Amino acid sequence: MGEDVEKLKLRLPLLDYLRQQNWTCRSTGHGAEFVGLCPLHLETRPSFYVNARKNLFYCHGCGQGGDLLRFVQLSRHLSFCQSLAYLQQQGAPPADPAAVLEQAATFYQNQLDRHPEALDYLNQRGLHDSATIQELRIGYAPGGCLRGHLIAQGYSFDLLQRLGLLNPQGRDAFYRRVVFPCCQGGRVMNLYGRSITAAFAHRFLHGSKGGLYAWDQVQQYPEVILVEGLFDYAVLWQAGFRHVTCSLGTHLNACQLQQLCDRPRTVYLTFDADANGSGQRASQELAPRLRAQGLSPRHVLLPDGHDPNSFFVQGGHRAQFQSLLEAALP
Ligand SMILES: [Zn+2]
Repeated sequence: MGEDVEKLKLRLPLLDYLRQQNWTCRSTGHGAEFVGLCPLHLETRPSFYVNARKNLFYCHGCGQGGDLLRFVQLSRHLSFCQSLAYLQQQGAPPADPAAVLEQAATFYQNQLDRHPEALDYLNQRGLHDSATIQELRIGYAPGGCLRGHLIAQGYSFDLLQRLGLLNPQGRDAFYRRVVFPCCQGGRVMNLYGRSITAAFAHRFLHGSKGGLYAWDQVQQYPEVILVEGLFDYAVLWQAGFRHVTCSLGTHLNACQLQQLCDRPRTVYLTFDADANGSGQRASQELAPRLRAQGLSPRHVLLPDGHDPNSFFVQGGHRAQFQSLLEAALP
């Protein structure tokens, strides 16, 4: 795991670290010794000493002392391992947003099995196959625990807020949500969080929803099923369909259109057949645009009031859906 402790302490001397944290001090005049107010307890007269040659600190006020790792443990309330991870990030090149989102996605994935309410929700939405759940890297955000985890990994509060993982109040943005990572070229570009309660059903982090979901895996197919929601996608994947992608809403952005139109192909438009007709309207509007690009759109007619998710939840199976595809009209 990363560089070892001794190398780390050489690379990041205690005094330099303290100065980065805005510790002010003066030389005592004895060798490489410095003194200032203690960052670990409240005081008005300086009793915190740093020996820059030995790379150690000692406070005569609170009695705490040790090396850089010890200081980080005390000042940030982290374990030894967390402090080490935190310091390994210090002075490292600026964090790559995709790497942070990757960490968040993994964290949420690890939470899923610990929260029966999340598994119940997936079950209600027709998702019960653990292989599918793992392949799609579905996770759960209980709320209130991502921040501590990522800060201990050394990511700054500012960065987490900028990426939208924390809300303006500094709390986890995703609370009681099932989470799907949205990847492009193997990198996590965004996270989609579906509330398991009634509150604000759909949510993405900041930024664009990006391209078509999991497009890398679908691009090669001459026939593609296009759905509007990730739960539609997930049940189709679970039923064994691999040439399926998701536009994350009925409106395709420019990037998604470009992806879909990169070669002549058949596109099975499988938007919701909901009562307000918005899915069907979107499908009617999209078809001529695809045709103009040399594609062959087909309208998949789901039973009234259904979307692909509810179709499978209510007992539909693979062969029935396959028949719907074969019956799809140009
Ligand atoms: Zn002290």
